[in-house]
Amino acid sequence: KVVIPIESIDSLSVKSFPLCMRQLHEQLRSAHHLKHGGRLQYGLFLKGIGVTLEDSLRFWREEFTKIMELDKFEKQYAYNIRYNYGKEGSKKNYAPFNCLKIINNNVGPGDCHGCPFRHSEFNILKNKLKGYGLEGQAVNDIVDMTKKGHCQIACSKYFDAVHNTGLDLGINHPNQFFEESQKLLK
Ligand code: SF4
Repeated sequence: KVVIPIESIDSLSVKSFPLCMRQLHEQLRSAHHLKHGGRLQYGLFLKGIGVTLEDSLRFWREEFTKIMELDKFEKQYAYNIRYNYGKEGSKKNYAPFNCLKIINNNVGPGDCHGCPFRHSEFNILKNKLKGYGLEGQAVNDIVDMTKKGHCQIACSKYFDAVHNTGLDLGINHPNQFFEESQKLLK
């Protein structure tokens, strides 16, 4: 199985992450924290792409301890990271969430999880895509699909815009998005 070193995660988030995970990554880097729904969605995704438990613990610890004591992190957050990897509690091997689950998730104010093509305001989404340097027509196409409620088609178009391909991938899983991207970039 491929192992993804955590040191490469910033550049991967730009090149190969779907938007739902890219925004969680950015939020974690800027706020040094994610709420429960975000930790779960992003934590399982990272496990799925091949980040080891040790690297995950280090990654979350480095961010969270910018705003809290190490002791608090170890007591309140480290357990859940180990849990995601099946090392605590019922020791299940939890699968990363698919698009349907993410799209249908409850997302409240201040939450950054969910699917941006379902849960973001159109203007915020549009500005974010422009800020990423995507070309105007591509941004309009993506936002149009979002307005029509076609989240996964919008996500496919985002994939095309980022990779500059004419592929029309059906996206149904964030980890599939990542793997298809990595195949293209090899
Ligand atoms: Fe993420 Fe799926 Fe939404 Fe794409 S369609 S942003 S992969 S949840």
